[in-house]
Amino acid sequence: MASPAFSSLSISPAMLVNLETLGYLAMTPIQAQSLPLALAGRDLIAQAKTGSGKTVAFGIALLAPLNPRFFGCQALVLCPTRELADQVAKEIRRLARAADNIKVLTLSGGVPIGPQIGSLEHGAHVVVGTPGRIQEHLRKGTLVLDGLNSLVLDEADRMLDMGFYDSIAEIIEQTPARRQTLLFSATYPAGIEQLAARFMRQPQRIEVASQH
Ligand code: ADP
Ligand code: MG
Repeated sequence: MASPAFSSLSISPAMLVNLETLGYLAMTPIQAQSLPLALAGRDLIAQAKTGSGKTVAFGIALLAPLNPRFFGCQALVLCPTRELADQVAKEIRRLARAADNIKVLTLSGGVPIGPQIGSLEHGAHVVVGTPGRIQEHLRKGTLVLDGLNSLVLDEADRMLDMGFYDSIAEIIEQTPARRQTLLFSATYPAGIEQLAARFMRQPQRIEVASQH
């Protein structure tokens, strides 16, 4: 079966041109299955192996509804490690070149918090970070999630393995109920069902098999 083109999605012409510039010509299977639903505002639980293109899937979905004129955090991506948060932020920045002045900030642990607080004072549209550090910023009041549209749990299985269930729950409790929640994972441990039952609204489940 031919891979569907990104042009079949309701995304901006500028984003389509940018995807072509980045060399993303056709959607990967996880992108083709998740993007129509994510762009329609559905909550998703998407399972696909590493390297299948999950970052571009949620990156396009979270950038689509952003309002560049509002400098509050509108999208939050939680990742298990600083390295993964850096990679995700880099990919979202590439995707965001299609939009006007979207600021993407990483807030991970293992680095001093002071400069992060300074950066937050200038505002950020998208925050990518690790659960512990995001929790710290929420407790200090340096990060506010009242204007959040999109919450992404990336590598949810690894975050649960690392014991982040309670941190994730505490973070989600500080976000608006009307947000969209997108959960991505390579495997499907029981904790994911618990998170879904507590925090997701009729999530659509997508699974891309390892073999094609
Ligand atoms: P995952 O999160 O599923 O492990 P990534 O989002 O890290 O996967 O993507 C893996 C690689 O695939 C990255 O190098 C990314 O640039 C590339 N990629 C993503 N989407 C596409 C696409 N539609 N066409 C070509 N390459 C893509
Ligand atoms: Mg990934």
